[in-house]
Amino acid sequence: MKKLCILGSTGSIGTQTLDIVDEHSRELSVTALAAGKNAVKVEEQVRKYKPEIAVLYDEKAAEDLKARVRDTSVKVLSGMDGLMEAASADSDIVVGAIVGMIGIKPVLSAIRAGHDVALANKETLVSAGHIITREAEENKVRILPVDSEHSAIFQSLNGERHEDIEKILLTASGGPFRGKKREELSEMTAETALKHPNWDMGPKVTIDSSTLVNKGLEVMEAHWLFNVHYDDIEVLIHPQSIVHSAVQYKDGAVIAQLGVPDMHLPIQYALFYPGRNNLNRERLDLFKTGELTFEKPDTDTFRGLKLALDAAKTGGTMPTVFNAANEEAVKLFLKGSIKYLEIPEIIEKAMADHKVVSDPDLEEIFRCESEVRNSFMR
Ligand code: NDP
Repeated sequence: MKKLCILGSTGSIGTQTLDIVDEHSRELSVTALAAGKNAVKVEEQVRKYKPEIAVLYDEKAAEDLKARVRDTSVKVLSGMDGLMEAASADSDIVVGAIVGMIGIKPVLSAIRAGHDVALANKETLVSAGHIITREAEENKVRILPVDSEHSAIFQSLNGERHEDIEKILLTASGGPFRGKKREELSEMTAETALKHPNWDMGPKVTIDSSTLVNKGLEVMEAHWLFNVHYDDIEVLIHPQSIVHSAVQYKDGAVIAQLGVPDMHLPIQYALFYPGRNNLNRERLDLFKTGELTFEKPDTDTFRGLKLALDAAKTGGTMPTVFNAANEEAVKLFLKGSIKYLEIPEIIEKAMADHKVVSDPDLEEIFRCESEVRNSFMR
């Protein structure tokens, strides 16, 4: 029986992880669950999966949860200490599926406790990739990618030698606004941006997908996960989302992983790696798939990707600034306070105002994050 700790259990990745637990209840059990503030959902999960620890970051919500599950033996915790305690408690694999930079410290706790991490929380690698990968190596734990593209790359690297990689081919659906020009984007609302053509994801990542910021974050994620230079990561727009990504080798061979757009497979692959297990979900039917197309990304229109690549190549604290400014801009956009095209403008301004610190430690990363966030309060 493999014991799981699920950080972000109420979200899109968290609940799909629990679907996998349902399908393999003899092989997987849940020892800890953590979320932000959704006491009702966590109560349901506690009653169903009977973890030893349940955490809500928000203290009031944790009090509410404590009252709700008083009749069970679960230990209810709150705040960052609670998240870190859950992540380091006894388990075989920690699923990192909290959204945002708040996920960094719990993931590090899991690594320091010697637990393998199935990582969905891309912000962790974007801001602290140099720390996470170093600590993972030192603690001899595996960072198993959950993001579908990175899982595809991971699967395409099976049995190959790192020195034989020529480049990573990172695919992107292009989001709901693919093919549109800047003038058309100016009036786009949160409602339209939240309608992703292929993937059913949480709101923040769906907006990021529409701006191509998500792909920029994924380039950084790929760089850290697979130790590949930024110039050797190519983004391809592939609207059908069937080729989840690929690796091109020095003899010209391209090895890809294909499948229907469904996060259950990459989540499950990380949980059972290096083995595979049954997954009773839709199969890819190549006869019905039709044409598979690939285009270069339009970085003049979708400036989020261009800015991400600039931030990635600058390195140091710049990816944190990029990410924090984007998180704040997306919040404002979802609230209806700014227009769609202001998202990249806000990121660009934050980057221009920032003095980079190279090789930052965690403290510097969080200081820099707060500086960016505080600038939105003024
Ligand atoms: P959701 O918005 O659906 O879920 C976010 C989860 O994080 C919820 O469980 C939420 O809890 C929790 N959370 C939010 N704030 C806190 C906090 N302060 N402390 C603890 N938990 C918190 O996001 P997704 O599941 O879509 O995404 C999760 C991560 O995975 C992101 O980094 C995303 O980029 C990445 N990812 C997602 C993919 C997808 O298909 N969804 C694909 C690949 C990567 P609560 O409900 O209580 O607020």
